[in-house]
Order: sequence, then C-alpha cells, then structure tokens
Amino acid sequence: MTAPTAAQAMAAATARLRAAGVPDPARDARVLLAHAASVDAARITLIAPEEIAPDIAERFENLVALRAVRVPVSHLVGQRAFYGRDFKVSRDVLDPRPETESLIELSLSEPFNRVLDLGTGSGCILVTLLAEQTNAQGMGLDLSEAACLQASANAVLHGVAGRADIRQSDWFGAAEGRFDLIVANPPYLAKSEMLSVAPELRLHEPEMALTDGHDGLSAYRIIASQAQGYLTATGRVLAEIGWQQGPEVAAIFRDGGWGRVRILPDLDGRDRVLWADTPA
Ligand code: GLN
Repeated sequence: MTAPTAAQAMAAATARLRAAGVPDPARDARVLLAHAASVDAARITLIAPEEIAPDIAERFENLVALRAVRVPVSHLVGQRAFYGRDFKVSRDVLDPRPETESLIELSLSEPFNRVLDLGTGSGCILVTLLAEQTNAQGMGLDLSEAACLQASANAVLHGVAGRADIRQSDWFGAAEGRFDLIVANPPYLAKSEMLSVAPELRLHEPEMALTDGHDGLSAYRIIASQAQGYLTATGRVLAEIGWQQGPEVAAIFRDGGWGRVRILPDLDGRDRVLWADTPA
C-alpha cells in the first residue's frame, strides 16, 4: 500500500473533523498537518501532492483524533496569534480571542506609563501593551498560579519580562501604587450561559476565566467600586464586556461614581469595551 499524499490525508481528516462538528474542519486539518510536518501552514499547498512520511502521518493522526474530541487547535499547536504576536497557551488560561484586540486598540489610543491588568491569564493583554508601549511598566494579577506562570513565560518570550510584575492575587489584593491605565478581560459569562458555549471552551478552558458562576457581572462590580483607589487622577479603566452587557455594565460604573462612562464597539460593531474615567 502506498502512503497517502498530504492532500489525501487532509481530505480524510477534514471529513472526520466535519463529522465531529468542528466548525472549520478544512482550515484545522491544514494547520494541524503543518504542525505535524513542522512546516509553515502557508506552505502546505506546496507539499500537497507529496506522500507524507509515516512519522508525520502518525503525528497528524493523533492531532486529528484530539481535535475530533474538540481540543482547541491552539492547545494542540501550543500557541495562538494575538495582535501580531504568538502567545503560548494551555488549558490553564483563556485563549486569546480576536475581539480582545479591540481592547488593545482602545488602550493604545492614549499614552500610559503604568498599566495594571486584572486577571491577566495568558498575559496576552499586558504583554501586548508593554511590547507596543516600550517605555511603560506593567503589573499583571491573576488568582491562578498556573496562569501567572503562563503570563510570565509570555512576557519572557516577547522581551518585556523586565517591565512586567506578575503576581498571584485575588483582584486588587496584591496591587500596589497607582496606574494610569487599568485593563481587564474578566470572566463575564453568566453561569446559565456556560451550558450553551462551544465544547472547546466548556471542556478545555478554565471555568474561572469564563464565568463568575453567577450573573457574569461580579467582576465589574468589584472593578467599579475599587479601581479609583489605584488610578491616577487622569487614569482610566478599560474592560472587555459581553456584547449584550453594555447597558448593565455602564449602569454599574455610573452608580459607582465614575464621571464618564462609555461603551465602545468591536470590529463587528457589537458592544465590547467599557471605558470609564473621571475627567477633571
Ligand atoms: N469572549 C469569551 C467568549 O467567548 C468570554 C471571555 C470572558 O468571559 N472574558 O465566550
């Protein structure tokens, strides 16, 4: 029996992943074959007509089997791209998501010297902000020790470890000093919503990063009531929100005495970012 070509192996994998309900099976098959063969995904077309070596075929087979039980591609290849950089990820942290790039864009729209990232997770927000704003210092806090290690590794990977102070902390517990920017992508799914999220999230991402086990708004109540004690006079809070939470989150901050509260959209035009400050 002759070995299958890369194209044949990908077609078989695509069919298997489609049957397993994977949303974009052809793309995933391509990315996983590239990973198994240690080539760039953009070069897969070039090797499509070639037979694949048995060791690569076996690696690919194992990856496809795991993807079929809905292990995220990022976990299988160990990284995920975010704002132009690759971040190490694992099941200890929330995967960086494209909608969070809106939080980055808005955070970078005004300069800052000191930034605090609450619930830093993979560190993708803190590390990106420090990599983009090369004079800034940052602190990243997370309740999960495993997440702190992951964020530290990503800070090293992207050359900002000397400016990133990462600490294990329950919200503001370990925060010190004042910041001109406080950012967060907190767990904002309601407990009831957890039943309907994709298996990749429900089975393979940390529940504590996704939901507060309540109405999804607990983190905003904590941030609205405590952040002013850690902000400079001209400082601001930017937090990611669920696209249906704009009115409720805005009300929490208005009731918390913030002078100016804005809800801003992501690239899909959906409410995605809270911006709160208290201009003089
Ligand atoms: N945006 C995430 C989702 O898809 C939720 C992330 C969060 O709770 N911060 O579901």
